[in-house]
Amino acid sequence: MGILIRNTLAVLPDGDGHEAGRHDIYLQGNVIAGIDKAPEGFVATETIDGTRRLTIPGLVNAHTHTYMSLMRNAADDLTFMDWLFGTVMSIEDRMEPEDAYWGSLLGQIEMIRSGTTCFNDMQMHVGQTTRAVADSGMRAVIGRGLQGDAYDENDRRITEALKDLRDYSDCDRLSFFLAPHAPYTCAPEYLRLVVDVARREGLGIHMHIAESETETTDMWRDHHCTPVEYVRDAGVFELPTIAAHCVRVNASDRAILAENGVSVVTNPASNMKLGNVFAPVPELIEHRGRRQRVPWHRRRRVQQRAKHVSRAWPAHARPQGHARHAAVHLGRRRLSHGHAQRRQGAWAADRFHRGGQEG
Ligand SMILES: [Zn+2]
Repeated sequence: MGILIRNTLAVLPDGDGHEAGRHDIYLQGNVIAGIDKAPEGFVATETIDGTRRLTIPGLVNAHTHTYMSLMRNAADDLTFMDWLFGTVMSIEDRMEPEDAYWGSLLGQIEMIRSGTTCFNDMQMHVGQTTRAVADSGMRAVIGRGLQGDAYDENDRRITEALKDLRDYSDCDRLSFFLAPHAPYTCAPEYLRLVVDVARREGLGIHMHIAESETETTDMWRDHHCTPVEYVRDAGVFELPTIAAHCVRVNASDRAILAENGVSVVTNPASNMKLGNVFAPVPELIEHRGRRQRVPWHRRRRVQQRAKHVSRAWPAHARPQGHARHAAVHLGRRRLSHGHAQRRQGAWAADRFHRGGQEG
């Protein structure tokens, strides 16, 4: 019992890069069981003509609040702070948990339609996006939105976050981060508490950082530092961190992000809607490049090895394990429990996967 996608234009890993070519892809359950060679005993219950189709690994959305799909167009043409504190938060406060569940499910359906199979969500209604993921079949990293001003071991939101984590510990499509909302809603003492709990639980951090001009000017007025420095000084970057937006980061901030392996998610659509300008992507990549510069003779050796591996396993002879790896490679760099992102540099938050899981 399986699905055959015949003669599709597929994007597959090729050494350190990718190649696009015509392939037959064999699916069994939620596993890509073969490429160009049917696995033993394979029976196609459905055959899809891929002649006019492109097959790629699942896309990943690295920063979402999926339940907010219900708020679309509810607050336009406002400054960021008026939008957030004047409109969005009051709508969130009026939402029932069941609203958040259906809103998240709607967002997930829209992502599935566009080829997205995994997302990194910050949820304010604890347990609802989690429940919707368990029902939808997607993969997700869930962070309960946190905010506070004290080092309180009994903090309600952190307690809820950990309960959510434990309630869904048997769902292998779900993993968890802690998600302090932003520098302007989290005091340094509270961030230190979040870091201590995340370290104890083996979790990463997901946070908005330097999203608007108001945030940076207020931070300088109140703390004489940038949002990036504020978060670093609270110890957040000691753990794997995904930083959303980062549109207002100077050269020093960019160096800090790169040195600490922080993964930046740039959110251009949100920034356009709220007039928050764009993240300086070329400059972020430049800092990452400086950090990861490799001597030319080592680069050459890696390239040669990649070509050798590619020749050693022509497409028709790839064993099942390699085929499975090849087909899911692009959309599956690790995010869950945040082991690898620190090494990915300051821009690579779209590259993650759950180790050992198919799909
Ligand atoms: Zn956000």
